[in-house]
Amino acid sequence: MGKKLLLEHIDVPGINTLSVYRSKGGYTALDKALKTMTPDAVVEEVKTSGLRGRGGAGFPTGMKWSFLAKPEGVPRYVVCNADESEPGTFKDRYLMEKIPHLLIEGMIVSGFALGAKSSYIYIRGEYFYVARILEQAIAEAYEAGLLGKNILNSGFDHDCYVQVGAGAYICGEETALLESLEGKRGNPRIKPPFPAVAGLYGCPTVVNNVETIAAVVPIVNMGGAAYAGIGVGKSTGTKLISASGHINKPGVYEIELGVPVEEFIYSDEYCGGIKGDRKLKAVVAGGSSVPILPADLILKTANGEPRLMSYESLADGGFASGTMLGSGGFIVMDESTSIVKNLYTFTRFYHHESCGQCSPCREGTGWMEKILHKILHGHGSISDVDLLWDIQSKIEGKTICPLGDAAAWPVASAIRHFRGEFEEFVRNGHSIKDVRHYYRLNGLPEPAYS
Ligand code: SF4
Repeated sequence: MGKKLLLEHIDVPGINTLSVYRSKGGYTALDKALKTMTPDAVVEEVKTSGLRGRGGAGFPTGMKWSFLAKPEGVPRYVVCNADESEPGTFKDRYLMEKIPHLLIEGMIVSGFALGAKSSYIYIRGEYFYVARILEQAIAEAYEAGLLGKNILNSGFDHDCYVQVGAGAYICGEETALLESLEGKRGNPRIKPPFPAVAGLYGCPTVVNNVETIAAVVPIVNMGGAAYAGIGVGKSTGTKLISASGHINKPGVYEIELGVPVEEFIYSDEYCGGIKGDRKLKAVVAGGSSVPILPADLILKTANGEPRLMSYESLADGGFASGTMLGSGGFIVMDESTSIVKNLYTFTRFYHHESCGQCSPCREGTGWMEKILHKILHGHGSISDVDLLWDIQSKIEGKTICPLGDAAAWPVASAIRHFRGEFEEFVRNGHSIKDVRHYYRLNGLPEPAYS
């Protein structure tokens, strides 16, 4: 059984309340930080821990914190990115819904470390009911003197607010999120300047994901070095994985980074194997934007090493044969899955969510959707597959924000690893595998294909 740092008490009845959270050691990290540590010492512990951003990019959190500008007389802000909208990712919702005080405690400790008197939790509109849970927890924290003026008689003041977005995927990009938080349309900003220099209301701001901020609590409690002792290589600590798709036990799992992918998919501790004992076909390991990998490459690297659930191992081989840990949205697909249909769904999503500021993303996502629709409906040609490849290559790396890459990578990887399926659609007007699956499910004799 792997170590649990965030979900250890998740099933304790009433853990969403302050009294039960405290009875399980809640707010000891805040007490320790305020009474025995300096803000810089907290930042040092986070650096030592090796914690990397859990929202998708995996940037070292301590380093991000150390970039924060500290001009005299200018407020600083901590902003929590709770705009979890990456298809296949639902672990932040689980954390906030079940154990909201873990996030609130992390917000206050982070605020103390960074010299911020105010912090904001920006939560996606679809999580409206979770916003109410957070507000309830914040009210309890104020009541107990854990928020507001002179917290725990330390002289530190901190206020925390919840802001509900309107439900746009792009507001998960940190500068679009800040624009939205300021009451404007959520368009990503051109960088530099980065939020650490000019963020919310033009002031130095750190934006971190829910899980990242929650992880600060065990780091302060156990010490950065002990946290760094968990995991593998530069993938330290634990990670929440949202597991979905054709598996026996979908859900949110906290893993020690470094668990073999094969163990994660097939062991009863995690996904419990593929439904109906069907064969594994492919996995999207880190949310819909990361490259899809076929079964052989997700289980083993191109060198034949077992693939691990870590930033480095999943990326081994670059995009030619690897992928990314991303946000930890682990989508498992069995042999009945149509990669082309799945890709069409992803591409439609990115086209719909593009903010439209830059041409490669605005136009490119639309064209990719149209071409995939054409192929899916039996009107495509082989040159359409090549055109699709060409369009994605003209989006990647040429846009203001990473949504362009997020739309391009699934297309590139699907063609790279499953080109035969696209060609099958072009030749037959449909996928032979789809038809066979339909006939098999309905107990009908399969048509003959030559
Ligand atoms: Fe908007 Fe797409 Fe450009 Fe991002 S990449 S700024 S979502 S148009």
